[in-house]
Amino acid sequence: MNTLFRWASLAGAVLLAVLMLLPGTTEAARHVQDHELNYFQTSEKTVDGRKVLRIEIGMNHDKLEYKVSTKPYLAKQLIIDMENTVPGELRKTITLKKDLASRVRIAELQRNHTQVRIDFANDVQEGNYKVYTLERDRKAKKPYRLVIDIFESEGGGAAGSVGTVRGHTIVLDAGHGGSDSGAVGPTGAAEKDVTLAVAKKLQAILQNSGARVVMTRTKDVDVYGPNSSATQELQARCNVANFDPSSDIFVSIHCNSFSNPSASGMETYYFAGSRQGRKLATLLNEELDKEMGLVNRGVKTANFYVIKHTNMPSSLIELAFISNYREEKLLKSNTYQQKMAMAIARAISRYFR
Ligand SMILES: [Zn+2]
Repeated sequence: MNTLFRWASLAGAVLLAVLMLLPGTTEAARHVQDHELNYFQTSEKTVDGRKVLRIEIGMNHDKLEYKVSTKPYLAKQLIIDMENTVPGELRKTITLKKDLASRVRIAELQRNHTQVRIDFANDVQEGNYKVYTLERDRKAKKPYRLVIDIFESEGGGAAGSVGTVRGHTIVLDAGHGGSDSGAVGPTGAAEKDVTLAVAKKLQAILQNSGARVVMTRTKDVDVYGPNSSATQELQARCNVANFDPSSDIFVSIHCNSFSNPSASGMETYYFAGSRQGRKLATLLNEELDKEMGLVNRGVKTANFYVIKHTNMPSSLIELAFISNYREEKLLKSNTYQQKMAMAIARAISRYFR
């Protein structure tokens, strides 16, 4: 009787132990369902005029948990950590030979913890990539998958980058805008459109290089408001720079114009007496001269409102004569605009060196 009782309580203890172990049993069952990577595809398309490289990494079932981190500048890597995931049959290193990304590496860092690392061509900036999952697509024969979209930098093409601007704040002023078209060329190109296009390309390059860029305008608008006085409008542009305590430099972009259509060339301005402004204007002049090969009209001083009333070193650039038939054509060209933006970026980089 005594022995029987002992056996009975032992059986009870065993049952209890089994019940306590149940959550552990569930855990083991879940591991059987680990995500196993089994699909890899890249494709290139254009969305809203921007080139996109899409990388799709498929797996055997849904509800993937993942975490995205970046090494934006030096390593230029996008890193995705996936829990309960094994690399499966996918290769450890996949070379892409694409403009926007060069390589994908897949590694199981710990048991059931897999990491995907993507080497970008450009710095990894917010807005230049998107990570999400897509449900299984039976028609397209695609499994549930993790999707990484890599966008070319805004302004078209690989934005390019320069050194030594990281951490600096650069204010860019695209001359004119909105109700004020600025000068208009012989075939109708408006100064306000050229200055904005160049400023946006320059913004992309500088941001790509780790700088903070403040724009007086990013659209075809008056900065103060439509039909304001010239002083109100120009002061509004200065305010954008002056009210931001971290503004390091101010660069205003314009196109020149003259009644004689043969007038041509590039020139840069600073406010008389500003040593740093002179340095900036000189570097801008040198780089634009090298890149564009136009007549160099030199580095000059002037009382232009925006270089006089900004509190930081500033320069105003006259890129070329929009009133000159040949130069108007250059100013309208997307490729040429990108070249000008790159030249200005290099000058800014030298300024901070
Ligand atoms: Zn102008």
